[in-house]
Amino acid sequence: MDHIEELARAFAHLPGIGPRQGKRFVFHLLASPPEERKKFAELIASLGKGVRQCPECLRFYNGSTALICNYCSDNKRDDTQLMLVEKDQDLAAVERAGTYRGRYFVLGGVLMLTGKGAIREAQLLETVRRRLTVGLKEIVLALSATSEGEHTVDHIRLLLAPYRDKVKTSLLGRGLATGSELEYSDAETLRAALSNRKET
Ligand SMILES: [Zn+2]
Repeated sequence: MDHIEELARAFAHLPGIGPRQGKRFVFHLLASPPEERKKFAELIASLGKGVRQCPECLRFYNGSTALICNYCSDNKRDDTQLMLVEKDQDLAAVERAGTYRGRYFVLGGVLMLTGKGAIREAQLLETVRRRLTVGLKEIVLALSATSEGEHTVDHIRLLLAPYRDKVKTSLLGRGLATGSELEYSDAETLRAALSNRKET
């Protein structure tokens, strides 16, 4: 396979990027000064070095010394609540809204209606069991108000069914418009969705 095609395919693996856009990126890079391409390549190559994945919430964070992220190590946060989000950017949006003070778990994806996609099921169950020993009372299902988000919520409710008598699950309130992704919701909307959350 030629070089252009190979790099275009690599780009097409990124979320939301198709083969045609992948090719656009390649030709853009070809037209860029070599120093710029070098800088770009170096940033990608060094990405894994300064960034760690938190073993508790599974989010990525900057830092080479701390063993767990700042949210998991903060003992002022509320151990009775655990929020499940699809991805790191959703967690960041909830933090920007500034009212949630509980713990997090990043699912790492959603389940598609076609059966594709995956979430971190084994780690989720392990986290729930561990959190139950430190006083977990509520799991907040903070997924996007999309059909994939709803499908994923249904699946998680089945997964968590054995714990139903120990922990309640709640859904974000409908302040979140249908079809909207958590990541792009403004702080005000998220605050409303959080305070209007409903037990499922
Ligand atoms: Zn963490």
